[in-house]
Amino acid sequence: MARTKNKPAAEPKSGNTLADKLVRLGIAREQDLVLHLPLRYEDHTHLCPLAALTPGHAWQVEGTVLNTEIHYRPRRQLVCLLEDAAAQLVLRFFHFYPSQQKALAPGKRVRAFGEVREGHFGLEMVHPSFQVVASGQPLPDRLTPVYPTTAGLAQDALRKLVHRALARNPAYLAETLPPWTREPRRLWTFPRAVLYLHDPPTDAAQAALDQRTHPAWMRLKFDELLAQQLSLKIHRRARARRRAPRLAGDGTLTRELYARLPFTLTRAQQRVIAEIRRDLARAEPMQRLLQGDVGSGKTVVAALAALQAIESGYQVAFMAPTEILAEQHYRKLAAWLDGLPVKFAWLSGSLAAKAKKQAKAAIESGEAQLAIGTHALFQDEVSLPKLGLAIVDEQHRFGVAQRLALRQKGIGDAHQLMMSATPIPRTLAMTFYADLDVSMIDEMPPGRPPVGTRLVSQRRRGEVVERARRLCAAGGQVYWVCPLIEESEKLELQTAVALHAELTTTLAEIEVGLLHGRMKPDDKAAVMDAFARGEIGVLVATTVIEVGVDVPNASMMVIEHAERFGLAQLHQLRGRVGRGAKDSECILLFEEPMSEAAKARLKVIYESNDGFAIAREDLRIRGPGEFLGARQSGVPLLRFADPEHDLPLIESARDAADELLRREPGAARAHLERWLGGKQEFIKV
Ligand code: ADP
Ligand code: MG
Repeated sequence: MARTKNKPAAEPKSGNTLADKLVRLGIAREQDLVLHLPLRYEDHTHLCPLAALTPGHAWQVEGTVLNTEIHYRPRRQLVCLLEDAAAQLVLRFFHFYPSQQKALAPGKRVRAFGEVREGHFGLEMVHPSFQVVASGQPLPDRLTPVYPTTAGLAQDALRKLVHRALARNPAYLAETLPPWTREPRRLWTFPRAVLYLHDPPTDAAQAALDQRTHPAWMRLKFDELLAQQLSLKIHRRARARRRAPRLAGDGTLTRELYARLPFTLTRAQQRVIAEIRRDLARAEPMQRLLQGDVGSGKTVVAALAALQAIESGYQVAFMAPTEILAEQHYRKLAAWLDGLPVKFAWLSGSLAAKAKKQAKAAIESGEAQLAIGTHALFQDEVSLPKLGLAIVDEQHRFGVAQRLALRQKGIGDAHQLMMSATPIPRTLAMTFYADLDVSMIDEMPPGRPPVGTRLVSQRRRGEVVERARRLCAAGGQVYWVCPLIEESEKLELQTAVALHAELTTTLAEIEVGLLHGRMKPDDKAAVMDAFARGEIGVLVATTVIEVGVDVPNASMMVIEHAERFGLAQLHQLRGRVGRGAKDSECILLFEEPMSEAAKARLKVIYESNDGFAIAREDLRIRGPGEFLGARQSGVPLLRFADPEHDLPLIESARDAADELLRREPGAARAHLERWLGGKQEFIKV
């Protein structure tokens, strides 16, 4: 271990040295072991006689091995029969090493710890931890910590490594918080808290430790949150020092758009527009996240921001995650701005080479004031010499890491407006997005009856088809979403084609269209256009329509195998309807049997139309890691603190971060070094 000390974090790789295993646990430096805290504790301080065992609890027992053999039915397993003076117990292992079989030789005295359950032949323990002991070997007098570990690294070995690290270097245990941070919050000192968690004293309250409400845990959770707040605030300060053009605007273009809008802006829209106006007029680059439920009207807000930048003499990049969406923005803006002196560039991967070259030339010469396209194009292909504002639509489709990357890449010191329809609950926003300003559209445009949601079993699919038929006959339009097949894009495509064929036959009098991810962008756009013009009655689509598509006349959405979709996805899909004044409905076709999680999801989506409530439930069901999509992106998540339950601690850490940066930046640096030192990416400024 000593050899890896202070080396930068290595990428997890397939190697299997001790250092590799530790890296898999997030331990890159010896001092990281100090922060590798127990998952839970086992009470090995007393023994339970075999005759006194009750199922459903964890016990420690001791006995002599009567025999140990491998059984093959119903599957290969090691079965060890243990006895003490009065009773017997089976220890059962489905995965085991020859060394374990050898250790459990008849006559050996064994101490085992595990949950006792009722087996076919009396009480048993499955996969207990055990050790061979000498008769009369004293019991530990303290709780035994159980650490998160990885294949091939035994608890005992890990415990030893942790204890060696704790003793090795006093600096590993040094206090990073000054008394004026610690004392008013009644926080334990760092060394006291850390030593307590790794080796709780005899009288420690195990429940408080296991539930992580113990003062020792509170200190460590506070430290972790503080590190996160510090790193976000440092990002933020660095931004405040950078310079962006002041885009105060002269109103020539924005006034025109206001005058042309076919609707009045909601109060919420007006409020966020004012916030953005103010930001754009300042020399500090704006980094604002615009949140608003599906259909709340974010596009017009973006358009007004864009015009303010353009009338100030700068360029605007408007980026969407998919070609379909980018094209839709393009068309909508082109219609709104028709006749105004704004030069557009439409940058699409599917453009013919010549057209693309022209678009790029217009952008790179600064002649095109408003460039619309997908992120990929902007990141890889063009530079914008007079970029004043970058607008990123549907930001939630991109992980936190991409968010950081985008910020660093090319865009330099332009203002940034990120838009998201997946509202982030407040606690998460305070932790993971604390470096952004957030604007919220918390009001829907008037005259939008909520979408009626119905859960319908596959068995009654015929009725749904008839409903679609009647709706189309009356001039309505329907989205019909194909089942999600995550494992295989090919299978998903086949299913889409089959569904299209089926509906083409059953709904013979109706024009049925097909839209999927594998189509050429031109073909996709043609189908989308035909649907928008009302020439297609039923649009069979894979989830390519999930984001942002806007066809107000479509008032029915059918989702096949809704049980396979995530909550956010279902809410997004449902948001495609209910955009006009007509009553809309969303039919969730499900197939039984369903998993508990699937039932829970469908219940939430059935009961709620409120994106925030749904996001909160989503967070509860999936946990913050998956919710943020950060698990893949490699940004460190909170290991100990829980954004849902530790709100007061988050608030306290946020205040402490301000204080510390102001009064003792050296302590802030030391604190960050301890918590994120191996993960430089996150704290780089
Ligand atoms: P999202 O926030 O999901 O991106 P959009 O910007 O696509 O929503 O807006 C959805 C629809 O609502 C569009 O057709 C848009 O023109 C319309 N819309 C936006 N604001 C208003 C408003 N204040 N009143 C009426 N309709 C509006
Ligand atoms: Mg949108």
